[in-house]
Formats: sequence, C-alpha cells, structure tokens
Amino acid sequence: MKYISTRGQVEAQGFIDTVLMGLADDGGLMIPAEIPVISQSTLKEWSKLSYKELFLQIFSHFTNDEIPYEDMKEMVDKSYANFRHSEVTPVKKINDSLYILELFHGPTFAFKDVALQFMGEFYSYVSKKQNEIIHILGATSGDTGAAAIQGVRGKEGIKICILHPHEKVSKVQELQMTTVDDKNVLNLSVKGNFDDCQKIIKEQFADLDFKGKHNLRAINSINFLRILAQTVYYFYAYFQIEQGDRPKKVNFSVPSGNFGNIFSGFLAKKMGLPINKLIIATNENNILERFVKTGKYKPGGFKSTHSPSMDIQVASNFERYLYYFLGQDAEKVSAYMEKLQNDGEIVIGAEDLERVQDDFEAYGANNEQCLELISKYKADYNYLLDPHTACGIAAYETYHGEDEVCISFATAHPAKFNEAIEQCGIEQEFPSEIKQLFSKPQYQLVMDHNKEEIVQELVKFYER
Ligand SMILES: *Cc1c(COP(=O)(O)O)cnc(C)c1O
Repeated sequence: MKYISTRGQVEAQGFIDTVLMGLADDGGLMIPAEIPVISQSTLKEWSKLSYKELFLQIFSHFTNDEIPYEDMKEMVDKSYANFRHSEVTPVKKINDSLYILELFHGPTFAFKDVALQFMGEFYSYVSKKQNEIIHILGATSGDTGAAAIQGVRGKEGIKICILHPHEKVSKVQELQMTTVDDKNVLNLSVKGNFDDCQKIIKEQFADLDFKGKHNLRAINSINFLRILAQTVYYFYAYFQIEQGDRPKKVNFSVPSGNFGNIFSGFLAKKMGLPINKLIIATNENNILERFVKTGKYKPGGFKSTHSPSMDIQVASNFERYLYYFLGQDAEKVSAYMEKLQNDGEIVIGAEDLERVQDDFEAYGANNEQCLELISKYKADYNYLLDPHTACGIAAYETYHGEDEVCISFATAHPAKFNEAIEQCGIEQEFPSEIKQLFSKPQYQLVMDHNKEEIVQELVKFYER
C-alpha cells in the first residue's frame, strides 16, 4: 500500500512515513493510493471479532507489514488498556430505530481518545525504533488537545505543544489539558478562536524548513492515522446491531466539525461496509450542512455554541472527500482548493450535488434544539446526551426513514460539557476522574494572537 497526496505533488510514501508527514508536503492531505475492498465473507468473519482484533485486521490492510504483527498487537493492547469499558466503544440500544455508539470511555471522555491513545503509542514506537525525535504540534477546540496530551504525556523522545483558544473551551477540557505537569507538555492559551490557532499551526507545517528542523509531527485529524483508527468503530458498531428477519438499512449520524470522523465513515463505506447514509450533524457552524444542501462550500461567520468542539468554519478533512468526489483527480483538487483560497468559496453544479447527496445527508442543530433534546432524551429514555451528541440526535430525528436504523455517535461524555447540561436544569454526578481535576494546579501560557511570539515560545520549548 502506497500513500499519495490529494494534490498529487508528493512522491508515494509508505505507512509510517505517511503518518510522520502529517499534512502532505504539497499542502494536500495524504490518502491511500487505492482503498482495499473487503469481501462479504471476510466481513462476516470480522463480525465476530473483539474491538482490538478488528483493529488489527483493518490495519493489516494498510500498514504494508512495516510493523510486525506482535508489535502492533502490543500497541493496540496498551492503547485500549485504560479505557473504562472492556468493549472500548460499546453500543447502547435506545429504541428500535436508534442505537448510540459511546465513544467516550477513554481517559479524556471524548471520542478523540480512541485514535489518539493509539497515536501516542505509535509515535513512541517510531521514536524508539527509528531514533526519531518527535515534536508534536497541534491546535485544538478542546478535545483533541486533551486526548493528545494524555496519549503522550511522560513518554520519552516526544514533546507536545498544544494551542487552544483562550476561554473558548469548556472548563473540564481546559483542566484536562492544563493540569498535566509532565515536562514534555506545553499548553498555549491563545486569545483568539480555534480557526486562528489552526491557521498558525497550518502555516508552521507548511514551512517545510521549520517542519524539518524541528521534527514537527501532527496529531490533528489531517493525519491519516487518526482517520484509519476511527474506521474501526464503524465496522464494530455495524456488527453489534441486531438484525431480525428483515434486515434494515444502517445509517450513521456523526457530530462533525473538521470532517474527520465522518470521513472515516466514508472510508469504511468505500472498504465495503454496507452503510446506507452518512449523516453529517453540525451545530450553527454549518458549512457542511450548507454544502450538502446547496452545493456551495463557503466559510460563514463564527458562532460560539454549546458544542465548542464543533465550532469550526473550515473543515480540514473536506479535501479528502473532494478528492474522491472529483474522480481522484489531483489536478482538479488543486484547482478547487486554489479557488477556495482566492474566491473564498467552492460551488458545484446540480448534477454533482446529487452525487454528494447520495453519500450524505446533513443537518445543523441550533443551541435551543440541542438543549431540548438533552431534556427530552433524559425524560424519555433516562439517557443523558452531551451537547455534541445531541446534534447527532437532532440529525437522526430529521433524517429517519422507514426500514432504517441509525447508529448515532456519542462523541463526548456529558460531564465534559456541564455548562449546557445545567441550563437544562439537570444535575449530573461527575465521574471521579473529572471531579479530581478541579483541585489540581494548572500549567499554561496565555498568549496574544501573535504568530511570531507564539512561534518563539514553541522553539524555546522544543530546544529546551
Ligand atoms: C472533535 C469532536 C467532534 C468533531 O469531530 P471531527 O472529526 O472534527 O468532525 C465532535 N464532537 C466532539 C465531542 C469532538 O471532540
């Protein structure tokens, strides 16, 4: 298996080098040159596997034997050892047409742990094996940073710096990142929004001299490793659904921001998992909803919502979808991305839009709806949704057809976003892991939104 860039200007790479590259050197995103298609009989065998076994099977189609099986197995075991549920991502049945896939049983109570716990092990492995220094740089709207820090804290050969928007992440998210006292962790709290942070990071990665000199490595969902690790639970969840005599069509509803999680679903579908519809759930920052409904992809005004991890204007992984949508034509992708850069928008025609709508539905929930759904599901099913998960449920309720079941993703534990839960008049008991954060000292530098000063701090930290 070789990996290429969506913009076609990078020499084909192996698996490990693809992960280390992160953002492609030509500014595009790395993708497999060919997507392996899994046969029906293999899928049938996979349906009996445990989460970890399934992970190993799926990865074996992508890693080219660059990592011996025993080593992979050890990494996977370590990655999921500290999940609080033996199934890693259990499926809960809510009613006959709705299942919730709980992705929040990892150390930071959000779905990012599923991929980033493994990524931490992977970087640690590569660092040892290849004698590589690894300097992780990332921007976060809250959950990625916390999960990435938990994935690599205290690990030798790795330093991690995370930028987050100052006072625009939830209290628990902030504490999860900043109460870590390991020397290999630096938190920069930037006075700006997530997109400001992301832009600074993107520019540092695009500066190939800087990237090479400082061994910069990415943890954002632009990294193919994250995308691949997230396909595992699409397969796993699909296999957990009870199907009676008349099998139903299976939809997935996915609370979306950077288009990473939903793209993993697109990949799973291309690999042969018989997914009916992928439903993109957003909040009021609904660039993706507008694209699927009108064919116009255009960043709008930024809004702070109850689901801050989805408060995103530019969905970085969208380019991966564009690549497949445009018939795997890297030149076309480059032209479209240039158009986005210059004109601030991409517009596709009516026929093309139909193809988008064959793959996706999309729905953006507003704040009020989210709170209503949190109250409703608590009252009707005694199930407490976090506000991101509530966006997914709103999309499920909007796009639910006969003879369909939906697997809606719970991307975070409600305790992480108590600000919204309180507004519903619901009092929740915090898990002890979260409770204890409130009494710990915090370590972070509050920075102005000034790229030069931020880069200076970064270099100081890496050279320390
Ligand atoms: C990151 C995140 C999302 C959005 O996922 P993408 O892969 O960026 O689309 C949704 N919900 C929660 C809780 C998150 O942390």
